[in-house]
Amino acid sequence: MNGLDINKIWIEVLEKLEKIMPQSTFEPWVLPLVPQSLDENGLTILCGHTLAIQILKKNYYKLIKQAVCDKLQKEVEINLIYSEELSQKLKKKNSKSKTSNQQEQNSIAQIKYEKYDTLKQMQSSCNLNLKYTFDNFVPGENNKLAFVASQSVAQNPGKKYNPLFLYGSVGLGKTHLMQAIGHYALQKYPSIKVKYTKTEDFINDYINCVFKSSNKNDKMNSFRQKYRSVDILLIDDIQFIEGKERTEVEIFNTFEALYNSGKQLVIASDRPPSAIPNLSDRLKSRFEWGLMADIQIPDLENRAAILSKLCQNNDIILPNEVIFFLAKIYNKNIRELEGAFTRVCAYSQINNQSIDIENVKKIINYNENKQKITIHSVILTVCDYFKIHPDDIIGSLRSAKISMARQIAIYLCRNILNENFVTIGKAFNKKHTTIMYSFDKIQDSLAKGNSNLRSIVEFLQNKLT
Ligand code: ADP
Ligand code: MG
Repeated sequence: MNGLDINKIWIEVLEKLEKIMPQSTFEPWVLPLVPQSLDENGLTILCGHTLAIQILKKNYYKLIKQAVCDKLQKEVEINLIYSEELSQKLKKKNSKSKTSNQQEQNSIAQIKYEKYDTLKQMQSSCNLNLKYTFDNFVPGENNKLAFVASQSVAQNPGKKYNPLFLYGSVGLGKTHLMQAIGHYALQKYPSIKVKYTKTEDFINDYINCVFKSSNKNDKMNSFRQKYRSVDILLIDDIQFIEGKERTEVEIFNTFEALYNSGKQLVIASDRPPSAIPNLSDRLKSRFEWGLMADIQIPDLENRAAILSKLCQNNDIILPNEVIFFLAKIYNKNIRELEGAFTRVCAYSQINNQSIDIENVKKIINYNENKQKITIHSVILTVCDYFKIHPDDIIGSLRSAKISMARQIAIYLCRNILNENFVTIGKAFNKKHTTIMYSFDKIQDSLAKGNSNLRSIVEFLQNKLT
């Protein structure tokens, strides 16, 4: 569909939405949207505010979709995507209208159709989120190696650090960094082919080819073509490969094909290869061939810097004490920190209220006594990791896996909770001497440099604290 048609449709959709949406949402968030394309993937709309995307997706997606479907008289998907270019334009426009002090009205008729070919190409064909660029990433001590290595890989794909294996617990920027590699490389080498895939999607894609298709060979060929004809393959959340033996073989073969022809692989995981249970040794060793870079939890200043950057990108001003308050509470996961930021901003925009610590506490349902770690929560987390039942850990079974899980759980109870051996013994139905023995065993093994064990213990510790 050409630009004019899509523009005309969008203007009519806006006229409808204006009547049914609150003005406080419609004007700041909906009016500046720019329709980009309408095709079999649905209607793609560009948005210059990441915050707007979150607010609209959460609360108004259905309404917008309904208005579009009514207008087109058919069912279409709505894809809201962030555009840096539009964001810059809106910022310029805002500052112009502020300096000239004119209350410039965003007139519907002024909305112009614009082409964002490169961005569109990147977004749709490579599965990349336009927000995840190096510019939007705040480097710090916690992610130094991962950040520098990612930049190096983006500048010279396939030359150094191949594969690049990024790991760290959830919400710390692995996906952001790996997609930033894609954006950067695409900008620097416009003809390069990049593919970002989540491991789950890879698995589903593979299963569909092997088990659900009638012309299996053709499907398999096109599957292989899809993943092996790229210059940079970004595979996210590889820990989900655990136990999927056939898909693991396919990943291995994809790895070999790309690696042997000098193509770049970037893999992300919530734990190092050595802590992914049941991963074949050959794949484990491939993952460790290049550079493994971990991302730790950012410190308070760094978390505050990330929030400040969010404020800057979204043209929001938050008092410093609020920034530090949020950064202090959300101390494990940047995604959660961003979620809180979004809620706080939405509240202040919708209610037109300034923000102080007291109303922030209400908005985020702050509860000082929340999230206490207990012996019980340690046991559950360890059982979840080892895929065993809590009754086994406190029972008397002694298989290698259960004994290992039990000893690690005991070690963590002592190490994180600082519980005494008698109390731990009661919780585990064991004598306190047995508890001491288990604790010492893990401690000794760590001291002797057992790196597998260290990865598992650190992973569980991060999960719990
Ligand atoms: P992961 O893949 O490690 O679970 P993500 O990459 O999805 O985490 O990051 C979660 C959110 O936090 C994303 O919106 C991302 O942009 C943001 N984020 C994480 N680390 C940083 C950072 N250092 N600077 C800016 N944003 C960050
Ligand atoms: Mg991720």
